[in-house]
Amino acid sequence: MLRIVIDPNTCCGSGECIKICPENAISLVDGKAVLDHKKCDLDGICIPACPKGAIEYEEELGGCGF
Ligand code: SF4
Repeated sequence: MLRIVIDPNTCCGSGECIKICPENAISLVDGKAVLDHKKCDLDGICIPACPKGAIEYEEELGGCGF
């Protein structure tokens, strides 16, 4: 199953993804964008909005922790 991931090492905290997300799934925590996977509907709108390219689709692995 796909999910959206934000690389905290690449995120510059611009907030562009927060402004564009229709589900209000992203918030800034300590200057980094953090995604609430329960709100995200995987539309991918935030991916091109990120000026750093820090957001991408990732294949979610099964097992514990997800
Ligand atoms: S994929 Fe869509 S719903 Fe999910 S965080 Fe990005 S803009 Fe928001």
